[in-house]
Order: sequence, then structure tokens, then C-alpha cells
Amino acid sequence: MARTLDFRDHRRDLDRNAYVYAVVSRRARGLSIGVNLNPDKRCNFDCPYCQVDRTTPGGPSRVNVGVLRAELEDLLLRAAGDVWTRPPFDTVAPELRRVADVAFAGDGEPTTPPEFPEAAAAARASRDRLAPGVPLRLLTNATLFHKDRVRGALAAFDELWCKLDAGTEPYFHLVDGTRLPLQRVLDNLLLVARERPVVIQSLFLALEGVGPDDDEIAAWAGRLRELVAQGGRIDHVQVYTVARRPADARVTALPAERLQAIARAARGAGVDARVYG
Ligand code: SF4
Repeated sequence: MARTLDFRDHRRDLDRNAYVYAVVSRRARGLSIGVNLNPDKRCNFDCPYCQVDRTTPGGPSRVNVGVLRAELEDLLLRAAGDVWTRPPFDTVAPELRRVADVAFAGDGEPTTPPEFPEAAAAARASRDRLAPGVPLRLLTNATLFHKDRVRGALAAFDELWCKLDAGTEPYFHLVDGTRLPLQRVLDNLLLVARERPVVIQSLFLALEGVGPDDDEIAAWAGRLRELVAQGGRIDHVQVYTVARRPADARVTALPAERLQAIARAARGAGVDARVYG
């Protein structure tokens, strides 16, 4: 669930970290601390817009939660102090020198590793102790919410940001690169959204110059409407496009006017929609 953010640098003072990284996000208005549970770069999706470089080998699959906790706590402590005096963070505007969130958003689907529940609990405890008030977010494709070990761990997070990039089965398979059924994602979203509000993240793109047609957007908006009609709560939908060119050269961004039109379709379905990018 790689994030598209303004600025990312692992190389200087975070390069020894196995799991925790930091980016400065203008959208979040501050330092976004990322937790990558997928150093092995494995994902159950293969989105053509993914920005994870899978041409180089990934790291180990097993997650060492003790190391993760130590990295997170070290960065939370430094964010309250000296991190802003070091490159590249010393270039950050003063008003952005704050921790905006802690987000599970790495080089694959974060709920996949068996250690996900333990990692979620550890991050929650560290956040509660060192950065109360900073939201703990999970960026996920929702494909595993039906599993007890995943669903039980969701309570550790303040916010669930769930991917929904399509309204029809063929388009879902095309833009998310998976053979999993769209209905599984929809069922899982409903399962959780009946219990607590979720944020929907929807990335739209052009493949070889062709974006989603009006029928696809209507189908996507219809899925949102169905979720709400069945008792699901959607806090808002984030409509966005690719910010940088992904490895797949067929992928390009959609124009801003098209994103606005897509957001209007979501609003027409009764859901708050915000456009980014
Ligand atoms: S869900 Fe898609 S964008 Fe996110 S890591 Fe997997 S392949 Fe990449």
C-alpha cells in the first residue's frame, strides 16, 4: 500500500531501519511516519500504478516486532527533538515540523504478514506512550478483513484507509492486478464499515492514455451507494491519481477536471469526496 507523498528519503539517517521510515507530507501537513511490514515487497495485488521497485530483491518476510517497536520509538522521540536539525528534514518548513500520523503503509499489503496483529498492538502502545493524539492509520486493500486475526487487530488503528479503485470486476482486475473477486473487497468493506467509519482511497489513472469510462465511474459510485445503503459508514472518499510515473510506463495521471467529475459522482452517491493531486 505504497503512499504517494511529496518527499521520501530512507537513505540518509533512516537507512539502517528495517521497517520504519519517514516522509514529509504536505497533504498530512507534517512528518508521516511509515511502518513497512512488507520489506519482502510481496503483495496480493499487482497494481500497474504501484511505485514499489520490484526489480531489486526484497528483504526477509518475517517481521521482527521488537526491532519494529524500537525503530518506531526512536523516530517518535527524535521527531520531538533533533530530527529537524538533520538533512533532509532541516529543509522542511517550520509549520510542517510535527508528526502528522503513523501509518502502516509499506511495500505490500500490511495485513498479510502473520505478525500483523502483534505489530499493530506494538505500534499502538508506542503511539499511546510517546505521541498521544497522533493518529495511527492503516492503509489496506481490505482483502483480508474477513480473517479473524486481521479483523481483531483493526481495533488498534484510529483510522482505516481502504482501497477501492474500481466498480466492475474486469476493471478491478485490470487496475489492481489481482484475480481476487471484487465481491470479497466489497463484503469486507461492509463488514468493517458497519462497525466503524472507514476512509475509501480510490486511485484513478490512464492506461495507455485511456482512463476509466463513465460507465466504470458510475459502477464505482454505485458500489459506494450500496455500501452506505447496507449500513456501511464512509467517512469520506479520497479521489486521486498517480503523482509520479510508476515502473509501468503505460500508466499516466488523469487530468484534474476528470478527478473532479469522479468526485462529483461519489457525492451524487451520498458520500463526501475529496480530490488530491
Ligand atoms: S496494493 Fe497495489 S499499490 Fe499497494 S503495494 Fe500492493 S501492488 Fe503496490
